[in-house]
Amino acid sequence: MDSPAGMHDIHPIRPNALAGSPLDRSAHHRTDDAWIAAQRGDPATLYAPVWRARSLMRTASSGVAEACLIPAAAIPQIDALPWAFLGLLDGGPVFCIDLSLLDAPLPDLADAVFQDLRRVGGAVAPQDAAIMAHARGLMHWRSRHRFCGVCGAACIFASAGHVAHCQGCGTHHFPRTDPAVIMLVTDGTRALLGQPNAFRNVRVFTTLAGFVEPGESLEEAVAREVFEETGIRVARVRYHSSQPWPFPSSIMLGFHADAVTRDIVTDTDELVEARWFTREELLAAEGFILPPGFSIARRLIDDWLGA
Ligand SMILES: [Zn+2]
Repeated sequence: MDSPAGMHDIHPIRPNALAGSPLDRSAHHRTDDAWIAAQRGDPATLYAPVWRARSLMRTASSGVAEACLIPAAAIPQIDALPWAFLGLLDGGPVFCIDLSLLDAPLPDLADAVFQDLRRVGGAVAPQDAAIMAHARGLMHWRSRHRFCGVCGAACIFASAGHVAHCQGCGTHHFPRTDPAVIMLVTDGTRALLGQPNAFRNVRVFTTLAGFVEPGESLEEAVAREVFEETGIRVARVRYHSSQPWPFPSSIMLGFHADAVTRDIVTDTDELVEARWFTREELLAAEGFILPPGFSIARRLIDDWLGA
């Protein structure tokens, strides 16, 4: 699939993995109930299926995985399952649908398999990965907003799956994305990386990261997270790029920052270890691994190494 017009202007180098979707979100169609109903009524309309946080993929003989979009006619109980309109692909509508209620979804698609995009993302065609990320994130939000967080009454979905409307108090709930900052801190010649406790069994060193808290700017979140996890103070926090990260509902906001102190105090609740690495040590990567190329963490590291 070709890049959408203007993509080059948005991403002067290249989009991060999971960004760069070829879909035109075509938001004006969401509130056109007659148009949505007509597309939904067409047995040939394509759906990106999600099943228990997994996406339907087909792996080519080259080893590259592709999104498997299936026609409405192939989906059992289609009217009973949560869905949303994703957008237009080459002018044709694409919806997503959550098959999690089915124990054995789509048994006839022998060559297509539901897989966890987070685990296999590096092997997926980039634009297909973006479509699957979109579908997974939206269906996760729908699954978490069946009931109103204000009054507890049931919600019904409007705007082609993009608004949860509470039947009790009338509150409208919209799809949410939780901002997280991720940052490569350097001191001019060395980069600060940590081994997260979550990856205790794999000696992976990666950039620091954390969620933005209420009442906090992104720059403040970067400085706070770095200090909490490593005791390092930073200055000159500079935005790099971002990456949708629907695992389950984040966007990673990437930064570079300069260290103004050097002595590390590792927060062992978060990290096994934090260390300074020279460029040579990172390029050699002996005795440890760096995060996968699929991740913005690796992009932040690679762009510093290439600078
Ligand atoms: Zn309510």
